Amino acid sequence: MPTAKILAKHVREAAKIWDRDPGFRGFRNGTTYEVRIGRKSYPPKAIASYANELAGNGILSPRDFAGAWEGKWHKQLENAGFRPEKKPDRTASMTSKRAELPMELAGLDEGAEFAEGAQHYAQHITQERNPKVVKLAKAQRWRDKKVFECDVCKFDFAKTYGERGAGYIEAHHTIPVHLMKPDHKTKIADIALVCSNCHRMLHTMRPLVDIPKLIAMRARAAKS
Ligand SMILES: [Zn+2]
Ligand SMILES: [Zn+2]
Repeated sequence: MPTAKILAKHVREAAKIWDRDPGFRGFRNGTTYEVRIGRKSYPPKAIASYANELAGNGILSPRDFAGAWEGKWHKQLENAGFRPEKKPDRTASMTSKRAELPMELAGLDEGAEFAEGAQHYAQHITQERNPKVVKLAKAQRWRDKKVFECDVCKFDFAKTYGERGAGYIEAHHTIPVHLMKPDHKTKIADIALVCSNCHRMLHTMRPLVDIPKLIAMRARAAKS
């Protein structure tokens, strides 16, 4: 857990990193909070992650930001002079974009949380099949990117398989089961979207790896 204080300069530097590489380490723009830095808004968790690293607190990945700790990251940013705010209600702008969503994904309310218990691996899988949170994660991705690319390797089923692959992507729950409380609420931000190969790699290799590590492994393998 973080110890050194994060400062305004760390936060500003973190924002620059995000500008250069949005989505680094698997962080995504969340649905609930944003933090204003300069003229732009940023995802607080991603900024907190990098700011902590710059402050000397080591590397924090999306899974370190599981639910209950949210208040802590917000406080850190606030102490550095940047206060995370609830995102404005975007229901109105969602409506006009619904027409662009694949049919079965439209008409979902975003930002919802789902009470789910998880004690063992089977439950991890079950969570990934929670149709509602998975649909919401996909709907959000489609709205933001208009493409379903693997978070690890960028594989796009639609590109490779055409019509048949359109809309296909698998959901991976990024919070390790052993770090979950029984009443853990799965958020959309906990769901990564991955291709079947990468998903298998995330699940079958021991020790288990997270998405940033798998991305690094692919990069290393590609070079060798
Ligand atoms: Zn992949
Ligand atoms: Zn998975």
